[in-house]
Amino acid sequence: MCNFLKSICFIGAIIFQCNLSAQVFDPILSGYVESFQYEARIRGINHFNFLKCVKFPTYTEDSVFEISKQKPAGWDGVAIFYESGDILVFINRIAFDNSDEFGKEMIVYHELFHAYFNYPHVPGCLMMKEEKITSADAAFYRNNKKKVLDQVFNRIRK
Ligand SMILES: [Zn+2]
Repeated sequence: MCNFLKSICFIGAIIFQCNLSAQVFDPILSGYVESFQYEARIRGINHFNFLKCVKFPTYTEDSVFEISKQKPAGWDGVAIFYESGDILVFINRIAFDNSDEFGKEMIVYHELFHAYFNYPHVPGCLMMKEEKITSADAAFYRNNKKKVLDQVFNRIRK
């Protein structure tokens, strides 16, 4: 999502800045945020960027919703860094609903790695590749979760 991340960052800054005065976490997604923080903390990572928002885009959030209209299932999520310092995560509801339990977790965790740690895409890395999460990725993750997470979190600790 990094290619258009920069372009929607600019548009998004204008649209979102006013309507999110408090921290907003979708109730469906907040469990993933909590488990992600737990996975980080048990690996000795206690410093996170402050996230303003982790939610599904709505019709009123035009810049993100435009993407979901054009590519209904063509993106998993996006982490947006504003010049103001606010960091927002949006998850594509369609991609999320079409994934199994482990695929859902990967979609949310991927964006949280970007948002909490400024983590970049890493070619060949299951969790942090640029391409969409597939059902095969989710199946691999199901059986190798600890190894996959260790690999990504270990880079943060260095
Ligand atoms: Zn990404």
